[in-house]
Amino acid sequence: MADLESFRSDTRAWLEANCPAEMREPIRSEDDLCWGGRNWTFQSDAQRHWLEGMAERGWTVPDWPKEYGGGGLSPEESRVLKQEMARIGARPPLTSFGISMLGPALLKFGTEEQKRHYLPQIARGEIRWCQGYSEPGAGSDLAALQTKAEDKGDHWLVNGQKVWTSYADKADWIFCLVRTSTESKQGGISFLLFDMATPGVSTKPILLISGNSPFCETFFDDVKVPKEQIVGEVNKGWNVAKYLLGHERGMIADMGLGGSLGGGESKSLGAQLKPADPLLRAAIAAFDVDALAFAAMAERFTAMWKAGEAHPASPSMMKYAGTELNKRRNELVMAAGGSDALEWDSERSKGGRAPREWLRSKGNSIEGGTSEVQLNIVAKHILQLPGA
Ligand SMILES: Cc1cc2nc3c(=O)[nH]c(=O)nc-3n(C[C@H](O)[C@H](O)[C@H](O)COP(=O)(O)OP(=O)(O)OC[C@H]3O[C@@H](n4cnc5c(N)ncnc54)[C@H](O)[C@@H]3O)c2cc1C
Repeated sequence: MADLESFRSDTRAWLEANCPAEMREPIRSEDDLCWGGRNWTFQSDAQRHWLEGMAERGWTVPDWPKEYGGGGLSPEESRVLKQEMARIGARPPLTSFGISMLGPALLKFGTEEQKRHYLPQIARGEIRWCQGYSEPGAGSDLAALQTKAEDKGDHWLVNGQKVWTSYADKADWIFCLVRTSTESKQGGISFLLFDMATPGVSTKPILLISGNSPFCETFFDDVKVPKEQIVGEVNKGWNVAKYLLGHERGMIADMGLGGSLGGGESKSLGAQLKPADPLLRAAIAAFDVDALAFAAMAERFTAMWKAGEAHPASPSMMKYAGTELNKRRNELVMAAGGSDALEWDSERSKGGRAPREWLRSKGNSIEGGTSEVQLNIVAKHILQLPGA
């Protein structure tokens, strides 16, 4: 306990000295996040300084082992770091699918060589990753995927198409599910990593209702992938894919707490919105109560998940609750904002932040597996309902 208190005071002092004032400003839009990668342009010196300082201490991934670029912190120390960052409103130094999705899968299924090669680069924000799971005919039924990887002796030859690949046009590398056998549905899938600059990879952005274009169709045309870039065993990639999805769902569930855009901390909506309408005020108060309950549940499940004690289907429960909560939050922001909240493109409305976030939140209950699919998983694996 005394150790934890001295860790807290050292951490507080270091953060005070090293977190630039600009990096303590609330995040206004996705543009304020630092995604890293070989083509990344830092928004400011402060953003670069903050990433480099945190990465040097391993604090972009505080609970990863030190030998892989992490901070080697215990769960209790990681929690203290999170609290101290929240105390000064520090932005996350790095937002990365490498941290929230691929890294945990590599830690569990990667070879020692893969861990030593990829993890430190992820921790320093040097590779920006995208996720090649969904295909035009394989979304909820992901195991129906058809993108094919043929064994050509010294390499895999990949052909096929992915869809809804978030930031594929900005990513350096992809973690990709491919079919290496047609003998069994789940049993014929492998998990490959490859560079998006490899000849034969191309992307085409898809425009969304929010006015942004954050994801793409991704095409593979005779893409050669070195043999060693497979994670786990050939035809056993489904296990890696499912494990990664658990982490992805946990990350998306965090939206219910305001996500990284909210500084990772639950913020009372009642403190931000003061509509005159008593019914709306009551709905906001009810939301705040549910958000507090969700935050408590999230903390408990995260601790259990890290200790390997959580039910394997618990991320589905969290994902469902967190994303439905986030959609509710956005509906309330829109209702309380009245006609002002419909402003799309002015300085006053911060570039239409409210309606754009409201529209973006609709995707939360689709990405990473839809709400219906999460409910099916909960019904079958947790509630053990007949016929589920
Ligand atoms: C914002 C966003 C970002 C995304 N980013 C990525 C990414 O980076 N990489 C990637 O690979 N994918 C990504 N996706 C794709 C996402 O994983 C899929 O959209 C999702 O899995 C659903 O698949 P689908 O769109 O094909 O819908 P479908 O599977 O066709 O589902 C259509 C509807 O049918 C319902 N449904 C389907 N099956 C069942 C069932 N068994 N029981 C009850 N209802 C069912 C669904 O709930 C849904 O309402 C992203 C999606 C969004 C919205």
